[in-house]
Amino acid sequence: MSSPVISPEIKTGKKILLAAPRGYCAGVDRAVETVERALEEYGAPVYVRKEIVHNRYVVDTLAEKGAIFVDQASDAPEGANMVFSAHGVSPAVHAEAAAKNIKAIDAACPLVTKVHNEVKRFDKQGFHILFIGHQGHEEVEGTMGHSIEKTHLVDGVAGIDTLPEFLADEPNLIWLSQTTLSVDETMEIVKELKAKYPQLQDPPSDDICYATQNRQVAVKAIAERCELMIVVGSKNSSNSVRLVEVAKQNGADNAYLVDYAREIDPAWFEGVETIGISSGASVPEILVQGVVERLAEFGYDDVEEVTSAAEKIVFALPRVLRHKD
Ligand code: SF4
Repeated sequence: MSSPVISPEIKTGKKILLAAPRGYCAGVDRAVETVERALEEYGAPVYVRKEIVHNRYVVDTLAEKGAIFVDQASDAPEGANMVFSAHGVSPAVHAEAAAKNIKAIDAACPLVTKVHNEVKRFDKQGFHILFIGHQGHEEVEGTMGHSIEKTHLVDGVAGIDTLPEFLADEPNLIWLSQTTLSVDETMEIVKELKAKYPQLQDPPSDDICYATQNRQVAVKAIAERCELMIVVGSKNSSNSVRLVEVAKQNGADNAYLVDYAREIDPAWFEGVETIGISSGASVPEILVQGVVERLAEFGYDDVEEVTSAAEKIVFALPRVLRHKD
């Protein structure tokens, strides 16, 4: 189907609602700065295991500055400087790096490390852990790697049926989760888990991080007023993908994920007065402003920011780089 021709000159009551908070969280800010500081301190190249954060623009920009992204720690040369991504790694990855004398800096978000510590603690206390998360996501691999024997992945409600049978008789059972899930969906999964395992205990605190929760609340606050929601973020960014789902579930007729303004299809604007914009926790604001400018070309130049929370959290850099502060 061909796109309708919409004249950039026509101005109507077209409006943009800009969700706040959006974009960079404290963990992403810290991880990106860790790579930048490591490049300053040690010089290029600095190797980075996996994408430092799940955003194409951020990865490409750091690569231009001298970061080399590799899939495994063992892909870097002997003795290299390496940063581990914000998503966290398992002890096996630390061992793999140590075997090649790699000087590793762990940029895992402290809120991911908190979940690692919970997994280690409950494993030690004799619990089996039902870990709610997405199969294949780096954070899930890193977290479950801290308790290979006793952690069982629950990927969606459908994943409950595939859990091992012995868990029904297991008295010490607790659930934990990936940090970037949909709050509503996770609670739905927990409800189903508790129906199957009445002995299931709740974690001591939320694992879904403040940034994920705040961005979902901010999208919910505007979704009903928007015919269209544009979320800036990459397809492999869990929290960004969740924002698209949250928008659709809470009143937006349509919602799309774009890495860049150039991916916006004018056909999406047909019959649309109000467009909501948000961005995932790994997205720099420059990309959101690119979308705002692109929409202005189509008459959406009345911008209202709707703020549902203030964020003041900042994480210190990894210790080895702190003297550069
Ligand atoms: Fe940390 Fe949450 Fe940001 Fe992930 S989204 S880096 S867990 S603050």
